[in-house]
Amino acid sequence: LASVVIVGAGQAGFQVATSLRQSGYEGRISLIGDEPGLPYQRPPLSKAYLLGKIGATNLLFRPEKFYTEQRIELRHDRATAIDRQNRRLLLEGGEALGYDHLILATGAHNRPLPVPGAELEGVFGIKTKVDADTLAPLSKQARNVVVIGAGFIGLEFAAVAASLGCAVHVLELGDRPMARAISREMSELFSQAHRRWGVHLDFRQGLTRVIGENGRVTGVETSDGRILDADLVVFGIGVIPNTQLASEAGLEIANGIKVDARLLTSDPHISAIGDVACFPCLQNDEQLTRLESVQNAVDHGRAVAARLMGKPAPYVALPWFWTDQGDLKLQIAGLSIGYDSTVVIGSVEDAQVSVLCFRGEQLIAVESCNRPGDHLAARKILSRQPALGPAEAAAPGFELKVWEA
Ligand code: FAD
Repeated sequence: LASVVIVGAGQAGFQVATSLRQSGYEGRISLIGDEPGLPYQRPPLSKAYLLGKIGATNLLFRPEKFYTEQRIELRHDRATAIDRQNRRLLLEGGEALGYDHLILATGAHNRPLPVPGAELEGVFGIKTKVDADTLAPLSKQARNVVVIGAGFIGLEFAAVAASLGCAVHVLELGDRPMARAISREMSELFSQAHRRWGVHLDFRQGLTRVIGENGRVTGVETSDGRILDADLVVFGIGVIPNTQLASEAGLEIANGIKVDARLLTSDPHISAIGDVACFPCLQNDEQLTRLESVQNAVDHGRAVAARLMGKPAPYVALPWFWTDQGDLKLQIAGLSIGYDSTVVIGSVEDAQVSVLCFRGEQLIAVESCNRPGDHLAARKILSRQPALGPAEAAAPGFELKVWEA
């Protein structure tokens, strides 16, 4: 391969470029990104960066000289079309880049708030550094904050806003926080923590409109007709994968760009990785799955680099994830989709808890709150198809670390 072109200079795009060089690839690497500045990590945008605990330089994966030294051509441009027949990528700036292999790492964008008033000033999603830079000063001035959606990003922001002294009200359509991704027991622990921090959680509740004056938000109307004051509204109601480039080029799309177990699209010269890729996930019964996490972006990037360097292998990496809210760090290993029983270990009062999620006799996920040792042990255990059933885990004195060793 003389040339690899990567679209999207986020977590996955950066990783595949870096892994290619690390594994000895000598050809040309072009990394095309449409955001300003150098490639950066997103997780701190809704946490430490927003609080000013880390600065802009700490968001960067690497300083500028890394790209020069590694001969990774970083281009600020937007890919507008793929000419598959001639293996060329067309850029908004007018250039056409030839490729031997193309990697789509275009990520996802925030699902917009589907109500009138969503365009008012003071209504935000958090996706980019620009979003966080705009939001940070406003969060410090805000008095009444309404958060739409009790998913990871909404709740991370709720915890930040509460710590800044804002009155925070969260509207969530479901009946518990982070319901798509964690067990009932862990949701309950986080509900209690948020209430302790002064966050008002309003479940089974949506909004009908955002209200404003002179173009600026002043409140929201809830589904049951109440008006809540708000000088800042932050929504986190899921994302939509950036598939347009792929679909216009005729690649197969599922809930994302469809790839096989090697992360190849329906065109053998094009791979897709990270948030945008919908892949047969071992831990989800090989069903087509799209994950949104740093782990997924990084491991996809590594897997594609290895394949391009002549070491193909089916993608089997264990999914894991984390979220920081207030003084709680939640780390999740595995996928709890379809769990039917749980075993809770640790101390709920001290918020140092691991929830082991089982499907039948099979351990499928471990959620650890402020128990990092459990999380590391769980990752090792889950990576090798554990023979750990609920009865054994529920035995008095059971410890994941001991079992793992
Ligand atoms: P991205 O990092 O989104 O990068 C895609 C890039 O492609 C973007 O820069 C986009 O602008 C660019 N692009 C798209 N189309 C084009 C085009 N046509 N031409 C050029 N460029 C294009 N994960 C965790 O595991 N833990 C966390 O705590 C966590 N916190 C998060 C907090 C926030 C606020 C956000 C937004 C995400 C968080 N995530 C977290 C998720 C994690 O950041 C993503 O899963 C990861 O960034 C996905 O990497 P990616 O490369 O697939 O997509």
